[in-house]
Amino acid sequence: MAHTHLLGFPRIGAQRELKFAQEAFWRGDLAEPQLRELGATLRSRHWRLQRDAGVSRVSTGDFAWYDQTLTLCATLGALPSRFGFDARTLTLSQYFELARGNAAQPAMEMTKWFDTNYHYLVPELSPESRFEGGVDWLFDELDEALDQGFEAKPVILGPLTFLWLAKCHGASADFDRLSLLPRLVQAYRRILRGFAQRGVEWVQIDEPALCLDLPANWLAAYAPAYQDLTGTGVKLLLATYFDTAADHAVLACQLPVQGFHIDLVRAPQQLPAWRTALPADAVLSVGVVDGRNIWRTDLRKQLPVLQALHAELQDRLWVAPSCSLLHVPFSLAQERKLDTDVRAWLAFATEKLGELQTLARALNEGEDAVVAELDAADAAVRSRQTSPRVRHAIVQKRLDRLTPEMAQRHSPFVQRQAVQRETLGLPLLPTTTIGSFPQTAAIRQTRAAHKRGELSAQAYLERIREEIELVVRKQEALGLDVLVHGEAERNDMVEYFAEQLWGYAFTEHGWVQSYGSRCVKPPVLYGDVVRPEPITVETTRYAQSLTVRPMKGMLTGPVTMLQWSFVRDDQPRETTAFQLALAIRDEVADLEKAGIRLIQIDEPAFREGLPLRQSDWPVYLGWAVRAFQLSAACVQDSTQVHTHMCYAEFNDILPSIAAMDADVITIETSRSAMALLDGFGDFAYPNQIGPGVYDIHSPRVPSVAAMSALLGRALSVIPAERLWVNPDCGLKTRHWPETEAALAHMVQAAQAWREKLAA
Ligand code: GLN
Ligand code: ZN
Repeated sequence: MAHTHLLGFPRIGAQRELKFAQEAFWRGDLAEPQLRELGATLRSRHWRLQRDAGVSRVSTGDFAWYDQTLTLCATLGALPSRFGFDARTLTLSQYFELARGNAAQPAMEMTKWFDTNYHYLVPELSPESRFEGGVDWLFDELDEALDQGFEAKPVILGPLTFLWLAKCHGASADFDRLSLLPRLVQAYRRILRGFAQRGVEWVQIDEPALCLDLPANWLAAYAPAYQDLTGTGVKLLLATYFDTAADHAVLACQLPVQGFHIDLVRAPQQLPAWRTALPADAVLSVGVVDGRNIWRTDLRKQLPVLQALHAELQDRLWVAPSCSLLHVPFSLAQERKLDTDVRAWLAFATEKLGELQTLARALNEGEDAVVAELDAADAAVRSRQTSPRVRHAIVQKRLDRLTPEMAQRHSPFVQRQAVQRETLGLPLLPTTTIGSFPQTAAIRQTRAAHKRGELSAQAYLERIREEIELVVRKQEALGLDVLVHGEAERNDMVEYFAEQLWGYAFTEHGWVQSYGSRCVKPPVLYGDVVRPEPITVETTRYAQSLTVRPMKGMLTGPVTMLQWSFVRDDQPRETTAFQLALAIRDEVADLEKAGIRLIQIDEPAFREGLPLRQSDWPVYLGWAVRAFQLSAACVQDSTQVHTHMCYAEFNDILPSIAAMDADVITIETSRSAMALLDGFGDFAYPNQIGPGVYDIHSPRVPSVAAMSALLGRALSVIPAERLWVNPDCGLKTRHWPETEAALAHMVQAAQAWREKLAA
């Protein structure tokens, strides 16, 4: 008998109940027992869904009050000592303080979980880290499942991946955290024993680090570490996902574990290596249902592979999603407005459970037992393949006609710079912002009313125009050199453009956890992208008409549009990126035609698209850079192209950033006190650059002196002729008083440096 299981289930609930409860608790509007009760209800509901779908053992340990890595830190007793908390007696409030910071301590650092948009809390370790144990929440969760009569398989992040994702700070920044492994493994032993005492047979131990480029000493550490995890009384299923681990299949299969999970959606090519290496009695769990995307599985296409595996492995074959379902929305059931065609092509977490069940029954009972389900899947796949809404001949034709020249500006940067200097007449160290201005409650209400149909298009436009005028006047009064219209009409920088393009669909409840209580609702990019008409031209033109100062047009770049959407899997990502690029290119051309002389194409997600393996970077960077160039390169020399990136490490992709050839790039740098900028200096980044001089995440108003000092640092790396002055990122989450005060200081700091440089 083939079994099915999940690597994890979304915890936020069908209606984002967990989010609202967390936030109510933080506000003091919900008491702790009620919050706990809600968590228990959600867990129980999700376990029932799994059991009803025939899953042999429901997953526990995939729930977390904020983040599963933080919960693991609290379980191991690996909390940052700066908080002074005792992991064994940690309260829920203290747990949230670790995640969100408190009056005395900034929050633990948060970063993206591999190449997903989920953020985990980075374990903070030091030579003193002891792992002497902490909260029992993982056991409580398990007991809860067992008490309710479920068979359970606890899920836990493995020790090597835990250490790999951890960081040592301050004085111990250079400390080799791998040396903590023997101590850490003892803590894992205690946890596994605890599971065994409760009668658990299988534990899923996640080691996705095996899909990264791990140094040799880290790889060598697997064998002794897992040797130390034997004899606890549980069987271990070692799980890898998000990429291939084929190059480590032999290493993994020599570990004293009893099973392996591999991601066959991202890396189907790794199967032969694992089949060869698989020990005679080991379980192989194959991830054949996409845990990262929302398309229905082509079940009949998967079956032959599974049937061959089943014939050989019998009940040692487990069928699973490729990774935890944390990365997809809860259920399609509540989507009422979704277009029926598109809806039929999709499967969210709950529907994916159904797909697993169908696959298992086809294996165990024969295809005849699930003919209807398989036919339905076929019909969905065929409908998507043949739908006239997916393919548009004009788009295909345009892609076929792409030429290298289309991705190149007419003249090299130096020449363009000279022309732009003439035509734009900007002062030295020009000041600007990144695009958005404070999104007041009034603006949000206006947008919502318009969306609900309560505010006519005309009235809405007028309201937005008033807002634009306000923003323009404020910028003029502040003395900024390059103005923006403020983005009041945009709820989200991707959704706003997606709504104006063909090929996109939108869900009502397709929420996915991003971090803590924050969720995102990525639009669904199902078809060829067409821009039927200009998107931003009217607003931008109106903004420019209000002022003699140059107005910067504001667009979202193709790579970010791709990265922050659920994208089609029926063509290479790069093809979709080029389609998006052409749509944006049309917008760029229309903005230029309308007299806009500076156009910013934001690419904050450029870096997060990087593949896990460095050997795959050149291919990604090649098409990502090309997509950006395609979107931008249609303009005259005199039109200045800006781009913006933030909250990422750029130093290792500087050649690609330079190859994008934007006239100006603005980046976030203030958090690292300009350390980031050194990379640009060392690399001798050739074009203009605006390193952020203040952190937009804090309401604190930085002083003129503080920003002057940062500018001084920047000037030591970038010549004044190529330096811009701006905040780190958009200002939409800020309030007006602090925004105006901070920008006034920023303009003063720039002015002071201009005088100093002129003297
Ligand atoms: N132009 C966008 C803004 O200012 C950029 C946002 C971002 O970088 N994420 O809001
Ligand atoms: Zn930004």
